[in-house]
Amino acid sequence: MTVRVRIAPSPTGNLHIGTARTAVFNWLFARHHGGKFILRIEDTDLTRSRPEYTQNILDGLSWLGLDWDEGPIFQSKRLELYERATQTLLDNGLAYLCYSTEAELDEMRAAQKARKQAPRYDNRHRNLTPEQRAAFEAEGRRPVIRFKIDDDREIVWNDLVRGKMTWKGSDLGGDMVIARASEDNAIGQPLYNLAVVVDDIDMQISHVIRGEDHIANTAKQILLYEAMGATVPEFAHTPLILNTEGRKLSKRDGVTSISEFQQLGYTSEAMVNYMTLLGWSPPDSTQEIFTLDEAAKQFGFERVNKAGAKFDWAKLDWLNGQYLHAKPVPELLEQLIPLWQEAGYEFDPASDRVWLELLTDVLRESLTRLPDAVDMSKMFFTDLVDFTDEARERIAVEGAPAVLQAFYDQLGDYEQLSADDAQQLVKQVTKAQNVKKGLIMRSLRAALTGDVNGPDLIQSWVILHLQGRDRLRLQQALNQIK
Ligand code: GLU
Repeated sequence: MTVRVRIAPSPTGNLHIGTARTAVFNWLFARHHGGKFILRIEDTDLTRSRPEYTQNILDGLSWLGLDWDEGPIFQSKRLELYERATQTLLDNGLAYLCYSTEAELDEMRAAQKARKQAPRYDNRHRNLTPEQRAAFEAEGRRPVIRFKIDDDREIVWNDLVRGKMTWKGSDLGGDMVIARASEDNAIGQPLYNLAVVVDDIDMQISHVIRGEDHIANTAKQILLYEAMGATVPEFAHTPLILNTEGRKLSKRDGVTSISEFQQLGYTSEAMVNYMTLLGWSPPDSTQEIFTLDEAAKQFGFERVNKAGAKFDWAKLDWLNGQYLHAKPVPELLEQLIPLWQEAGYEFDPASDRVWLELLTDVLRESLTRLPDAVDMSKMFFTDLVDFTDEARERIAVEGAPAVLQAFYDQLGDYEQLSADDAQQLVKQVTKAQNVKKGLIMRSLRAALTGDVNGPDLIQSWVILHLQGRDRLRLQQALNQIK
């Protein structure tokens, strides 16, 4: 069997992390089996669907590296297909016109509630006579189309994640609406369950992989497959992503869309790696860092959990750090340049390339998220620095002014300064001034950077020297002490 899977987002919001994680699992499964991964945009809800959301979804999937083989296929361009399928169901007596008004349905549900019953449609228009129908039409009522669901049906499937699943027809809420009412007596807009099944049949989807919030839909959809005489695909319902309190991750948890994670400075590699681990673990469960391709080789549903997957920010941060620390300097620099530009730092990406690369290399080890680099590197983008109070103290302690003066004087001889030169100079001054190396390093850092902590001092110094800023800083520090 050829594996054909799909991700079918509705463009009613930005690409959600839950949808993206489902996309990851579909992609991994397709690649593992050498199958096809299809992208379908479920935009039949015309009032809530927006082109900018479609764009956000496409951009997000591309950024994550989840390339698709077919699509994007838009449901809004396929309405005829759904109409035809609905008409066939009507012709075969498997669906019917229902004229119930909203008010009647509300009243029906209220009565069920009073009897402590679960709300459901009571199938009241299943067997209308032609006369009854004509009377409703004459009243100006416009019908929806309902698909018959028999209460005594039992629906069983073998879920690839959850094992044997059994649903009773009576738990599906009565005959379900598959098409909305239409003013001109045609078949109205298709509803989710109908459109999905028509498309999954048409696109020969072999495995439907989606969130466990769709389990009840699956039971309904299996009935539609049968009604349309089609082969029922395999189903895999993936666990939900939970917040730190163990509840379903929602808008209230703040960051939930992929573009927001991107803006926060997470790398695409860390995001997909992390999402893969949200519900799946590789056979060697100590392995936490892998590419999509590596995960695809090992992916299978036997290692997907049934239980919800808790979102763990600390783990995502850790993974992101790992990817940033391992990123080649030129690649990382390309990602930092726009952030520095946005922060208003002045530099020329071309002519400053040498020290920009050195700076990137110095910062790399300390980054958890990309924007961390902005604050950390501030002092490399200005001639003079603001001293923190602690730094001010350090350049004034006994012995420090003489040390700084010695560096200032000696540096006059250096046109270029390598890390080795800088180390040598430190040794020389330590000896000449007869002070502890600790004092030297502390006062030097405070003078050069205006701070008491920061990236590697020698490397930072080399960069400042390349920029022609190190003597200037020492001069500035000496002026402060006077
Ligand atoms: N449009 C549905 C959603 O975004 C698709 C669900 C499915 O995969 O069938 O939840």
